[in-house]
Amino acid sequence: MDIVVIGAGYAGMTAALRLDRNHTITLISAADSFTERVRLHERAAGRPSVSTPLAELTRGTGIRTVEGVVTAVDADIRTVTLADGREFGYDTLVYALGSFTDASVPGVADHAFAAENAPGLAERLRAGGGRLAVVGGGLTGIEMATELAETYPDWQVRLVTGAHPAAGLSRRGRKHVAKALTRLGVSVHTGTRVEAVTPDGLRTGQGAIEADVVVWAGSFAVPELAAKAGLAVDERGRAVVDATLRSVSHPDVYVVGDAAAVDVPGAGISRMSCAIGMPIAAHAADAVNARARGRAARPFRFRYMIQCISLGRRDGVIQAVRRDDSPIELILPGRAGAWVKELICRYAAGSLRLARLLPRSYWWPK
Ligand SMILES: Cc1cc2nc3c(=O)[nH]c(=O)nc-3n(C[C@H](O)[C@H](O)[C@H](O)COP(=O)(O)OP(=O)(O)OC[C@H]3O[C@@H](n4cnc5c(N)ncnc54)[C@H](O)[C@@H]3O)c2cc1C
Repeated sequence: MDIVVIGAGYAGMTAALRLDRNHTITLISAADSFTERVRLHERAAGRPSVSTPLAELTRGTGIRTVEGVVTAVDADIRTVTLADGREFGYDTLVYALGSFTDASVPGVADHAFAAENAPGLAERLRAGGGRLAVVGGGLTGIEMATELAETYPDWQVRLVTGAHPAAGLSRRGRKHVAKALTRLGVSVHTGTRVEAVTPDGLRTGQGAIEADVVVWAGSFAVPELAAKAGLAVDERGRAVVDATLRSVSHPDVYVVGDAAAVDVPGAGISRMSCAIGMPIAAHAADAVNARARGRAARPFRFRYMIQCISLGRRDGVIQAVRRDDSPIELILPGRAGAWVKELICRYAAGSLRLARLLPRSYWWPK
C-alpha cells in the first residue's frame, strides 16, 4: 500500500515511524528536519538548535523523505501536490500539517515575532536591551515571558493578556506562576485586549503600550488546506475524524495532531498539544496497520493526566488534571516541576528516536 504522510512535526513523525514497514511510506514536509516546537521559547532564549534532520530520524526504516511545501490535496483522486509542481498519489494519506500562531490581528505579521521565528527573535534580543512585550497569557505566552526575562535581564519584559495569566490552571498553579513572573521582574497587564501591533508597540482598548519588540503568543490556527481539500472540518478548520481517526468525509485520509478535532469521550475536543497529538498519531498508525492486515481498527482511547509549564530553566509547574483536562488543586512546582517538564520534552523527542528501531514503543495514558 502507498501511504503518504504530510507534515513531519510530532504527529507526522510518530505516525510515519509506527506504520508497518512493508508499506511504501513517503514523508513530505516543508523542512528537512523535525523541530521540537515545544522548545521554541528555549530557542528564542539562545538554545543553539531544537531540530533534528529527518534523514537521521528515519535512517534504516525505508521511509522516503521529501522536502517540499504541500499546496493542495485532492482527496477524491488521492493526490498531494507540492509548490514546485511535484505530485504524489496515495492509497492512504496521513494529514499532519499541525498548526501555527494565529497572526490575524492587524500588524502581527509585520511588527511582531511569533514562536515560529524563534531564531530571529533570539538574534534581535541579543542585539541589546529595551522594552519587550509578550502578548498572550496562556501557557505559551508565559513560557516565553519567563524564559526571555531569565535569559535577557537587560530587557524589561511585560506580559499583556486579556484573561488572568494561566487561567486554565488551578488556584495553586496560578499563584505559583504569578510568583515566578514577579521574581523574574515581568510586569503583567491583565484585562488588556490588543487591537493592533504597531511599529512602536501595541494599540489596546486601554491605550497604547510602547515596546521595542513584540512577541505574539495568541492562539493557534490551522492551515486552510484541509478545508480546501474538501475534508469535513469544524469551525476552526480542524478536520473532523471518527473514533479511529479517519476523516468522516474521506475514509482514506487519517488526520492527526493539532490538525484533527478528535472527540475524546469524557473530555471533549482534543487540545492542540503534543500531550494528545502524539497519542492520536500513534493510534492512527495502529488503525492503518490493523485495516491493512484485514483486522478491525479500535476506537482511540486517551486520558489527560497533567499539564506542564516551564518558568525559565529552573522553575515550572506540573498541574494535575481530571479526565476532562480540568485542573485539580494538586501541583508540583519549582525545580522538581521544571525537571519533570524537561523529562516529558525528552520523552516526546526521544520516543521518535526509539521508534526508528522499535516502531511500537511509544506509550500513552489511556
Ligand atoms: C513555544 C511553544 C511551547 C509549547 N509547549 C507545549 C507543551 O509544553 N506541551 C504540549 O503538549 N504542547 C506544547 N506546545 C504545542 C505543540 O508544540 C503542538 O501542539 C505540537 O507541535 C503539534 O504537533 P503537530 O505534529 O500536530 O504539528 P507541528 O509540530 O506544528 O508540525 C507540523 C509539521 O507540518 C509541516 N507543515 C506545515 N504546513 C506544511 C505544508 N503546507 N507543507 C509541508 N509541510 C508543512 C511543518 O513544517 C511541521 O513539520 C507548544 C507550542 C509552542 C509554540
